[in-house]
Amino acid sequence: MAGTMIQKMRTRGDQENEIYIKRDDLLPFSMGGNKVRIADAFLNDMRKSGCDAMILYGSRHSNLCRVLSNLCFQNSVKCVMICSHEEEEDDEATNNTHLIGWTGTETVHCGKKDIAQTVDRVTEDLRAQGYRPYYIYGDRYGQGNEGTAAMAYAEAYREITAFEREQGWEFDYIFCPSGTGATQSGLICGHLLAGDRAKILGIMISSREKERAFRVISQGVRGYFAKTGQALPENFEDEIVLLDGYRQGGYGVYDDRIRACIRREYCLNGLPLDPIYTAKAYWGMQEYLREERISGKRILFLHTGGTPLFYDFLAKEGTKEEKC
Ligand SMILES: *Cc1c(COP(=O)(O)O)cnc(C)c1O
Repeated sequence: MAGTMIQKMRTRGDQENEIYIKRDDLLPFSMGGNKVRIADAFLNDMRKSGCDAMILYGSRHSNLCRVLSNLCFQNSVKCVMICSHEEEEDDEATNNTHLIGWTGTETVHCGKKDIAQTVDRVTEDLRAQGYRPYYIYGDRYGQGNEGTAAMAYAEAYREITAFEREQGWEFDYIFCPSGTGATQSGLICGHLLAGDRAKILGIMISSREKERAFRVISQGVRGYFAKTGQALPENFEDEIVLLDGYRQGGYGVYDDRIRACIRREYCLNGLPLDPIYTAKAYWGMQEYLREERISGKRILFLHTGGTPLFYDFLAKEGTKEEKC
């Protein structure tokens, strides 16, 4: 995986911190994003496990399903996507839905309560067709493969430490949006292995219960260390920090403060941020720095991508005559 650049951001108002951004939105496949690294980790793990078909789970708006369906198509890997039904408002097709559609990925719909049975059924169907299927989340309850997704950002962390070495200093804080926690758990692994000073802060973007989010990140870190046969540092859970004060109404819910952040960061830094993940986290980071009166620090924000969602936002809200 080619590395991505770390850029210094222009800031307005708060000049007291130096803010840098790692442009993982520019990873050169399927419009980029953290899911490019994570999808790659899944495909490698699938092959290592001797499997030849991938079962995805996610919403039809999901960046992960976009990138994985794209990667499977490119590699001629059979791929089935299990799609659970969530709230009605979720029903409108988005850019990701269309792009997933282009790959012709077989989709199996199910209710939230029937996921385990559906995973079983799809697995059996694929076996009957002669495939050796691989479910990205592990067992029928979606557990047991947390270490694979964590691997992506444990490895990406080396790009951060290489940058720090070049600069001759280390970041004080690294912020990232935290959804499933795969990205954050990987960053924590990378940080534990590097032994650098950075404090990693995940900004929660959904209403997922904080204890559950914490547990999943902990499993990701454990899974990665077990998978790679390395000794897990004691007290590693001290490194798991989740900020839950910026999720507004929950997943996909946002207000004018997020809208303003998207316009401002576009105007100031030429950056595409989306209202569901990156703008919510970027805004949350700025709020946190202000509330905690943090100044004189070097801060890294991980841009996790979601560029098709920026264009969804633009199509829906871009016509409003608002200035930066
Ligand atoms: C999936 C996603 C996230 C969240 O990453 P997790 O590893 O699930 O926590 C953040 N930003 C974007 C754009 C994403 O697609």
